[in-house]
Amino acid sequence: MNAILDNLQAVRANIAQTARRAGRSPEGIRLLAVSKTRPAAEVFEAAVMGGQRDFGENYVQEGVGKIAALQGLLPPGYPPLAWHFIGPLQGNKTRLVAECFDWAHSVDRPRVAERLSRQRPAALPPLEVCVQVNISGEASKSGCAPAEAAALCRAVAALPGLRLRGLMAIPVPVDEFDAQRAQFARLRQLQETLCAEGLALDTLSMGMTHDLAAAIHEGSTLVRVGTAIFGERNTP
Ligand SMILES: *Cc1c(COP(=O)(O)O)cnc(C)c1O
Repeated sequence: MNAILDNLQAVRANIAQTARRAGRSPEGIRLLAVSKTRPAAEVFEAAVMGGQRDFGENYVQEGVGKIAALQGLLPPGYPPLAWHFIGPLQGNKTRLVAECFDWAHSVDRPRVAERLSRQRPAALPPLEVCVQVNISGEASKSGCAPAEAAALCRAVAALPGLRLRGLMAIPVPVDEFDAQRAQFARLRQLQETLCAEGLALDTLSMGMTHDLAAAIHEGSTLVRVGTAIFGERNTP
C-alpha cells in the first residue's frame, strides 16, 4: 500500500469524523497538504492519485521550484492545483509569492500587503489573503497583534491585487485539548467581532497535525496538515 495515499485517506476520515462530532459538515473544512521539504514527486502522487488539490509551502524558493516542477509533471488539461504560501513573509520575498501562488496566509503588516498587491500580475485573479494574527501573545513573534487585525483587514480589502479571505494563526504548541481549543477560540472570536464590524471573512486557517481536532471544534474552515500526510520531516 502507498503511505501517502493511506495517510490522506486517514486524515480525510479524521476531519470528517471530527466535524460530525463537532456538529459541523465535513464539506466546510478544506484540507491543505503542507508539502514543505517534500519532493515534487510526492506532491504529484498526492495530487494525481490522491485527488489532493491544495498544497502549502513555507519557503519561497522551494515552493516556486515545486510549482514549476508540477506544471511540468501534470498532464495537459489537468485541473490546476492551488498553492498556498504559509511561511514568514519578508518584504524582499513578496514578488515571487505574488507571481506564483494563489493564496498567502501569513500577511501580518500593511507594507507586505501593499507590496503583494502591487506585484500581483494583472493577468491573474487577486491573491487570496489571510491576515495572520498572533493569538499567543509574548510567546510568539509572528502575526499582527489582535488589536491591529481590523485595520490590516480593511487595508487588505481595499487593495486591488488582493482578496481578503480570513484569519490565520499558529498558536504556541500545547498538548491538552482544552488548552488548544482556548487558543483557537480567540481567533474565532476575533473573526466574529470583525464580521460584526462589516468585514467579509469566510476563512479561518487554523489547525495542524497535532491540534487538528481542537481547531475543527472551534470552527476552522481550512486545516494545514503536513506530518500526518507526508510523515515526519527530517529537515527543519
Ligand atoms: C509546517 C506547517 C504546518 C504543518 O505542520 P504539521 O505539524 O506537519 O502538520 C502548518 N502550518 C504552518 C504555518 C507550518 O509552517
